[in-house]
Amino acid sequence: MTYPTQPTASHFINGAYVEDTAGAPIDVIYPATGAVIARVHAATPAVIEQAITSARAAQGAWAAMSGTERGRILRRAADMIRDRNHDLSVLETYDTGKPLQETLVADASSGADALEYFGGLAGSLTGEQIPLGDGNWAYTIREALGVCVGIGAWNYPTQIACWKGAPALACGNAMIFKPSETTPLSALKVAEILHEAGLPAGLYNVVQGMGEVGAALVTHPLVDKVSLTGSVPTGRKVYAAAAAGMKHVTMELGGKSPLVIFDDADLDDAVGGAILGNFYSSGQVCSNGTRVFVQRGIKEAFLARLAERLGGAVIGDPMDETVNFGPMVSEGQLGIVERYIAKGVEEGARLICGGKRVPGEGYYLEPTVFADVHDDMVIAREEIFGPVMCVLDFDDEAEVLARANETEFGLAAGVFTRDLARAHRMVAGFEAGTCFINSYNDAPVEMPFGGVKQSGVGRENSKAAIEHYSQVKSVFVRMGAVEAPF
Ligand code: NDP
Repeated sequence: MTYPTQPTASHFINGAYVEDTAGAPIDVIYPATGAVIARVHAATPAVIEQAITSARAAQGAWAAMSGTERGRILRRAADMIRDRNHDLSVLETYDTGKPLQETLVADASSGADALEYFGGLAGSLTGEQIPLGDGNWAYTIREALGVCVGIGAWNYPTQIACWKGAPALACGNAMIFKPSETTPLSALKVAEILHEAGLPAGLYNVVQGMGEVGAALVTHPLVDKVSLTGSVPTGRKVYAAAAAGMKHVTMELGGKSPLVIFDDADLDDAVGGAILGNFYSSGQVCSNGTRVFVQRGIKEAFLARLAERLGGAVIGDPMDETVNFGPMVSEGQLGIVERYIAKGVEEGARLICGGKRVPGEGYYLEPTVFADVHDDMVIAREEIFGPVMCVLDFDDEAEVLARANETEFGLAAGVFTRDLARAHRMVAGFEAGTCFINSYNDAPVEMPFGGVKQSGVGRENSKAAIEHYSQVKSVFVRMGAVEAPF
C-alpha cells in the first residue's frame, strides 16, 4: 500500500534517511483494517551509535547560533507542517487509526504550535544579572544540556515528536527521538521537515525500535537528558537508568484522573467534558478523566444525557471525515481493554452501554460506560487506556475531593460547577499537575502540562519546559581585591 508522505526508510540520521535491514523487522499495522502498511527495522547498535555521534557532533555549533536564528528554523518548520497538514494527518491516521476528523485538527497542528511557540521563545532565552554587596555581582548563563533523547508513546506520535523536539532544539540541544514501535512513521516526517526547513544535519535524529533501543539510548554515556512519554512501569525503569548516569529527565506518564461533576453544573457541558475526557482518540489519552464522579442528585439525568449523546458516535473508516470514533491502536491494546471490561462486569459495575468489539475487520471497541463504580474496583484504580468511562456517585465536596486524590496517579483533574469559588477550592485541593475548570483535556502549548505523584516529573509545553531543556551556569564577578587569610 502506498499513501502520501510515506517515509522512505526506517531511520533519519544526520539529515538523511538510513536503512539497516540487519535490525529486527517491525511491521506497521493500520488499526482500521489490520493490514500491514509498512515495515521498518529496529536500530542496530551501529545505527544507535551513528545517531548519537552525529547528534553530539552537530550540537555545539547549533548551541552557538543565536536563539533568533534557531527559532527562525523552527518557525519555518511549523509553517511547513501547517501547509502539509492534510498529508501529515493522513499519515498519523495510518499510524494510529485515529479518525482523520480528529488528526486534521489535533496532531500535526499541535506539533506546529510547539515549533512556533518555542521558535518564538528561542531568542529570549537568557540568564540574569544578580547585584551583590561591595560592588560585586554575578550573572547566569542559560546553556543547552547537550544530547537529549525523546521516547514516545503510540497515541500522539506527531505531537510527542514535536513537543519534545521543539523545546530541546530551541534551547540549543540535539534530539534523538525513538517513536513507539507501534507508530513509527510520523516522527520520520517531522525529522524530514525540520531538515527541509534548514535544521543542520544531526540535530534531530529518529531511530526505531522496541524498549531495548530506548534503553540503549537512555544508558548511553553521551546522552545528557531523557524525556519519556509512556506508562508508569516504563517510567520507573527509564528514570532509574537515567539516574545511574545522573541525567536530566522529564517523565510524562499515565493517569487515572478524576472528573468531578457537581449538581449545579451545566449538564450538557459536563457530559461534553466527560465525552472529550474519555472517548477522544478512542480513550487513548493519558490525561483522560476516567473516574467521573457525579453528584448523586443528577446521576440519572447525567447517564441519560450521556447515553443520548453517545448515540452520535460515528464508528467506522477513520479516513472518512464524518467518522468521529476510530479503532484502538492495536490488537494487543484492544485485548487489554476487553479484559478490563470483563473485570468491571465481574466486579459488579453496571454496564450502561458498549462493552463489545465491533464486528468486522480492525480493532474497534464500542464506547463503554460503567455506572455504580466503587473506588476499590480494579476498573476505578488502574489505567485502562481505552474507551471506558467509570461513573462513581458522591454526596459532598470534602468527600469527593478526598476520593479523587485517593490514587497513586496525579496527572490531571477536572471539575464542572457553576460555583466558581468551589471550582477553585477543588483545584487547590486536587493532587494533580494539570487541572480543568468547566472543560476537559485542553492542552494549549502556552500552558504547562505534566503530572505529580506517579504520573511523572517535569513539565512539557510553555516557558516551564525551558527549565527542563537547559541549565544555568553561575558566574561570580569580584570587582575589588581578593582577601585571603594568608
Ligand atoms: P510504554 O510505557 O509501554 O512505552 C513508552 C515508550 O517507551 C515506547 O516507545 C517503548 O518502546 C519505550 N520503552 C519501553 N521500555 C523501555 C525501556 N526499558 N527503556 C527505554 N524505553 C522503553 O507506553 P505505551 O507506548 O504503551 O503508551 C501508553 C502509556 O503512555 C499509557 O500509560 C499512557 O498513560 C502513557 N502516556 C502518557 C502521556 C503523558 O504525557 N503523560 C501521554 C501519552 C501516553 P516500545 O513500545 O516500542 O517497546
